[in-house]
Amino acid sequence: MRIGFIGLGNMGAPMAANLAKSHEVTGFDTVAKPAGIALTDSAAAAAKDADVVITMLPNGDILRAVAADIHTAMKPGAVHLDCSTVDVESARAVAAAAQDKGLAAVDAPVSGGIGGATNGTLTFMAGGPAAAFATVEPLFDIMGQKAVHCGDAGNGQAAKICNNMILGVTMIATCEAFVLADKLGLDRQAMFDVVSTSSGYSWTMNAYCPAPGVGPVSPADNDYTPGFAAELMLKDLNLSQMAAEAADADTPMGKAATALYAQFVEDEDGKGKDFSAMLPRFESRRRA
Ligand code: NAD
Repeated sequence: MRIGFIGLGNMGAPMAANLAKSHEVTGFDTVAKPAGIALTDSAAAAAKDADVVITMLPNGDILRAVAADIHTAMKPGAVHLDCSTVDVESARAVAAAAQDKGLAAVDAPVSGGIGGATNGTLTFMAGGPAAAFATVEPLFDIMGQKAVHCGDAGNGQAAKICNNMILGVTMIATCEAFVLADKLGLDRQAMFDVVSTSSGYSWTMNAYCPAPGVGPVSPADNDYTPGFAAELMLKDLNLSQMAAEAADADTPMGKAATALYAQFVEDEDGKGKDFSAMLPRFESRRRA
């Protein structure tokens, strides 16, 4: 397959490198110029002649601008596969614009981070027509270990922000429970041993425990170096609240988690730390 790859940052560069092992990849980025990938001097040039054009960009506004650029350059029937995390509305607008030009679009944000991108073990949650999903499925197999077709355009983004809203809320609940346990004189190992095998268990407790030295190795054991940075969690929580607003969904816990991560990242020292650093944050505070 001929693949155009736009957005060669932390995630895009290793994803493109994995694809380039077995496909012809041409890439473009306004800033990054990673070695080992054939580069063009515009997004349109990377998109021209490609069977699939992948975008891996920072946000919905940039995606819309790049899409307007590449859709006019792409050949009829080609697929625009967007793997960025963006708002549901932008994903659906880009898919409609692609369709108007005789192209197909799939939104497929990822879970798994830079490690997953490098090792080809990402999870993709995809929205778009079944035929387009089938076209890009072999590429998911190279870049990742699992791809779930979630339905129509935008549903990949919907799945991602719902998952990450649960993740943000659960991380906060796990961290505040640890701090309450501390103040009640409960040993953290005992807390872990009980909760990880009781009804309070969760991925944040069992697989990514925010307490250093307890449970499996996690960013907490590396001074809260990300992992998954608090500002990326805030980005996804903000997207969840944009979507909840647009869909008129009541999400009080998601709203509270968004406000807490915003405070942590914007007004406190959370930026650049793993999102599990909510634990030392709560630890340093008294009851509000
Ligand atoms: P990044 O900032 O490292 O990469 C984005 C790249 O897009 C940059 O290199 C930038 O120069 C390029 N870019 C910006 N505007 C452009 C344009 N008009 N044309 C071409 N290139 C342009 O970000 P990242 O960490 O690679 O994340 C990419 C996407 O993946 C984001 O939507 C992010 O939310 C999502 N994501 C990131 C992670 C992670 O752990 N980093 C995990 C899951 C999802």
